[in-house]
Amino acid sequence: MRAEIIATGSELLTGRTVDTNSLFLADGLLDLGIETAFKSVVGDDEKDMEEVFRRALDRAEVIVITGGLGPTEDDITRKVLARMLKKRLVLNEKALKAIKDVFAARNREYPASNDRQALIPSGGRVLANPVGIAPGFFLIEEGRFIAVLPGVPQEMRTMFSESLRHELAAHCRSEVFIHRKVLHTWGIAESKVNEQLEDILKKGKPVMGLTARETGVDISILAKEGSRDRALTLADRTETEVRKRLGDAVYGMDSQAMEEVVGALLRHRKLTLSAAESCTGGLISSRITNTPGSSDYFERAVVTYSNASKTELLGVPAELIAAHGAVSREVAAAMATGIRERAKTSLGIAITGIAGPGGGTAEKPVGLVYLALATAEGVSVEERRFLGDRDQIRQRTAQAALDMVRRHLIA
Ligand code: AMP
Ligand code: MG
Repeated sequence: MRAEIIATGSELLTGRTVDTNSLFLADGLLDLGIETAFKSVVGDDEKDMEEVFRRALDRAEVIVITGGLGPTEDDITRKVLARMLKKRLVLNEKALKAIKDVFAARNREYPASNDRQALIPSGGRVLANPVGIAPGFFLIEEGRFIAVLPGVPQEMRTMFSESLRHELAAHCRSEVFIHRKVLHTWGIAESKVNEQLEDILKKGKPVMGLTARETGVDISILAKEGSRDRALTLADRTETEVRKRLGDAVYGMDSQAMEEVVGALLRHRKLTLSAAESCTGGLISSRITNTPGSSDYFERAVVTYSNASKTELLGVPAELIAAHGAVSREVAAAMATGIRERAKTSLGIAITGIAGPGGGTAEKPVGLVYLALATAEGVSVEERRFLGDRDQIRQRTAQAALDMVRRHLIA
C-alpha cells in the first residue's frame, strides 16, 4: 500500500519553516507497513490545494494531509477536500462539544466562528484532539484512506499515535511487515563502509542505506517480509553480518548516542571521567551530561580557552605552550594529565584544536585537532584533521573524543 503525505501551509514554502510533520508521518506509516511514495507541500491556495489533492487520489491509496484546520479564513483544507470529493460539510455535534469543552475548561468565551472547526465532510469520522482544539477526521472513499490532521506538530503527533494509527492499521491489514534498524559507526569513511558491505547493499533485501552525519556513517536496514518473524530474523541476521564486518567501528544502534554508550561502559567498569575542552567549548561535557545519571561517572570539566586558563586550571606549563603552541600534541597531553590529576578521575580527556574559520596556518590548518586521553597507564594523543565548517569541526571533534574514551574502555 502506497501513501502520499501532503503538508499544507504557505509558511512551509517561504524557506523559514521546515515541514517536520511529514518526517514523523513517513516514519509512523512505515511502522504500519505503509510505504510513502510521495510527499507534497502546498500553500493555502484553493486551486493549488485542489490540484495536489486530486493528484494524490490518482496515485496513492493512503493520503495523510496536515494543516489548515484552524478557524481562520486561510484554513481551507476541509472546504477544498469536501468540494473535491463532492461531499457536504456537516457540523459534527460530538466534535463541536469537544471544542466548546476546551474553551470552557480554559474559562474562555466561545467565539461562534469556531463552529467551523467542527465541520466534517459527510461520511467522515472524527479524530479527537486531546491536546488542542481542531479535531481531525478521516474518510474512506473508493478504497482510498484519506486523513486530515492539524498542522501543529505536537497535536498532529498525538493524534496520529493515539487514534489515526489504529484506524490505519485496521483499514490496511497490511500483508507486509517491516522491521527497521540503524547501526551507527564512527571512524570509518562512507566509501569504506560501502566497500565492506557492497554485496549486502546490492542485494536489495533487506533495503539498506548509508547516511554520512557529523556523528559518523549510519547504516539503515529495512527488512520487509510477509510475517513479523521473518522481517525480524532478516534484520537481525543482517545486523550480525554488518557488525562482523565493521567490528568496533559500530558503536551503537537506533536511538543510542555515543555518550550513552560511553556512559554505560564507564558505569559498568566503575570508572570516572573528567574533561578539559578548548575548541569544543563544553560540547563534550554537554553530550555526556545528556544522559540521565551521568553524575555517577562524570566528575567535572573545564573549558580552558585561553593559554592562561590552561596554565592556571590545568597546570600546563607556560613554556610548553610557548614552545609548541596551544594546539599541539604536547599541550593536549598536559591538559589531559592535568584534568585527570585535579579531578582525581580514572580517565581524563582533553581537546585542543582549530575550529576556524580563521586562525589556521599552513602548518596548523583549520580542522587540526589533538585529542588526548590520560589513564592510570599514561597518556595517549591522537592527531586528527576534520573537514567542514566551524560547527561541523566542533561536532566531529566531540564525537571523536567520546569515541576515544569508548575504544579505551572496550580494548
Ligand atoms: P495550521 O494547522 O495549518 O494552522 O498550522 C499551525 C502551525 O503548525 C503552523 O503555523 C506551523 O507553525 C505548524 N505547522 C504546520 N504544518 C507543519 C508541518 N508540515 N511541519 C511542521 N510544522 C507545521
Ligand atoms: Mg496553516
